[in-house]
Amino acid sequence: MIVRLEPRIRDYAWGSRTALAELAGRPSPTESPEAEMWMGAHEASPCVVGHHDDRTTLDKLIAADPIGMLGETTVTQFQRRLPFLLKLLAPEQALSIQAHPSREEALTAPTGTYVDNWPKPEAWLTVTEFEMFAGTLAFDEIRSAAGELQCQRFGELIEAAAGSGVKQLLRSILQAEESVQRELTEEVVRACGDRRDHPHYEAIHRIAAQFPGDVGAAVLLTMRHHVVPANSYVFLPAGVLHAAVHGVTVEILANSDNVVRAGLTPKRIDITELLRIVDVHRPVVVEEPPSGVRVHSFPVDVPYFQLHQVNPGTQLEEVPGRNKPRIVLCIGGTITLDDGVEQIELGPAQSCFVPASVDHLHCSGDGTAYVATTGLVG
Ligand SMILES: [Zn+2]
Repeated sequence: MIVRLEPRIRDYAWGSRTALAELAGRPSPTESPEAEMWMGAHEASPCVVGHHDDRTTLDKLIAADPIGMLGETTVTQFQRRLPFLLKLLAPEQALSIQAHPSREEALTAPTGTYVDNWPKPEAWLTVTEFEMFAGTLAFDEIRSAAGELQCQRFGELIEAAAGSGVKQLLRSILQAEESVQRELTEEVVRACGDRRDHPHYEAIHRIAAQFPGDVGAAVLLTMRHHVVPANSYVFLPAGVLHAAVHGVTVEILANSDNVVRAGLTPKRIDITELLRIVDVHRPVVVEEPPSGVRVHSFPVDVPYFQLHQVNPGTQLEEVPGRNKPRIVLCIGGTITLDDGVEQIELGPAQSCFVPASVDHLHCSGDGTAYVATTGLVG
């Protein structure tokens, strides 16, 4: 039994009014922004499944038959919960600068810090060219950027943090008095405005215009700016600072909604929690799948998820993730799934859930299938 999913669209203000609609072949621009499309069973917004009198949500369907839907290993490891969520993200302007907790950190945080007690590592597989900030720069790189921009106030904070590192620098930016933050932000934005020939500085100047006076502009100067081509895979481990800026990407993440922000947001910044979880040492690796390969599995970095990409073309390909719960999303063209009993055709931006009890699954078609599974071995 393959279950067709009705995705949930989130209308956050930073979303594009054209990107997701165009991807799905719907009229655009849409009335409201379409920032994210969720395909999964997260309690906050589970997908609707079924027809007519049988309509329910994916989380309820799973709860009614956890072993059949998730398989025994997933049920044991993740407390009867689908451990991953698949999304399409379509930012038109920058999202908040953020980091997510590990499982341990989510469990040990003071009550009220998080909306659930799960971690939220993420990976992005870009559909278009995609602009983002991801990871922090090395201390010396930040020092030379401030020098190049002749940011005196920022330079003073850097020298005061010398010997203690990037985390201390972040602390002094985020904990500075409001007047100091204002001065710092103005200085960075003005200096970046004078150096718009440099992609990192141009991006800071452009994004700051969307968030006037927000100290996030100064935080962005400590982060690495990337513009990656379509079909780039980026893994964002727990604790790594990131901000999506522009483009369309598939995102796979642990099934959680736990976010700690560090700027570019009107919301409160929990500085204590941010400094507790932020990891300024882990580099962010961007990789492209090998060209000409019909089935590619991206690395397993966490037990919660793994992403696979299938371009069957004229062949019949086996879909990876046998005996695991799977979500399959089609992009560009169509994909026909065949489990030996029935065939289901997915059009652009359409998706389905395949229970762990489905043994053999094959696909064909001219679209690209994005297949989400757990990252459990065996
Ligand atoms: Zn995130």
